Amino acid sequence: MKCPACESEYYEILKSKGKHSKELLLKCEECGNVYKEIIVQEKPVDVRIVTSEFESSKKGFIKLYPDEELMVGDNLEFENKKVEITSIETKRGGRAKKSTVNDINTIWASSLDIPARVGISIDYGGRILSWKVDVDRDFEFHIGDIIKVENRILKVNSIKTIERKVRKGFARANVAKRVYGKPLDAGIRYNYDLSSKIVKDLRGEE
Ligand SMILES: [Zn+2]
Repeated sequence: MKCPACESEYYEILKSKGKHSKELLLKCEECGNVYKEIIVQEKPVDVRIVTSEFESSKKGFIKLYPDEELMVGDNLEFENKKVEITSIETKRGGRAKKSTVNDINTIWASSLDIPARVGISIDYGGRILSWKVDVDRDFEFHIGDIIKVENRILKVNSIKTIERKVRKGFARANVAKRVYGKPLDAGIRYNYDLSSKIVKDLRGEE
């Protein structure tokens, strides 16, 4: 960078703003002239991404700035679809909750354009009845919920999520893998009916 007045290359940075390209306000150390410079710092790079939609996954690349910081839960756009980061694999080989793009090996994400698919299981003392349902990603399953599925009623006692087993509180459908419940008598009052959300009848398979 050269001073437009005296062509000196010595300057003091007065101000710097911007993330991917920086706008600098500089003061020439020779003549005191104050001038602006815009420097394009970095170009976007290709980062490996694996997105999942239900049981299938898709691999590709996404353009991101190397100095950008990403976190699990952040939304990205991949092939004109909104996706949510579910996991970040770093170049060191481990998983991280957040990382700068530079250090990322692979981004794992799930599609936000589709509902969440969750399993519902009722345990009849060892004999399990199961379904898969598609619900809104924001839908919350709470421990203690009384759910109707077809002609069965269950009370939720645990929820298996991507990372843990929930026995208290609730889990959002986007992280819930399977909801477990104990049967209740038909005719009892329930909180909601998931019958219309059933994807495929998987009873007897598990
Ligand atoms: Zn100057």
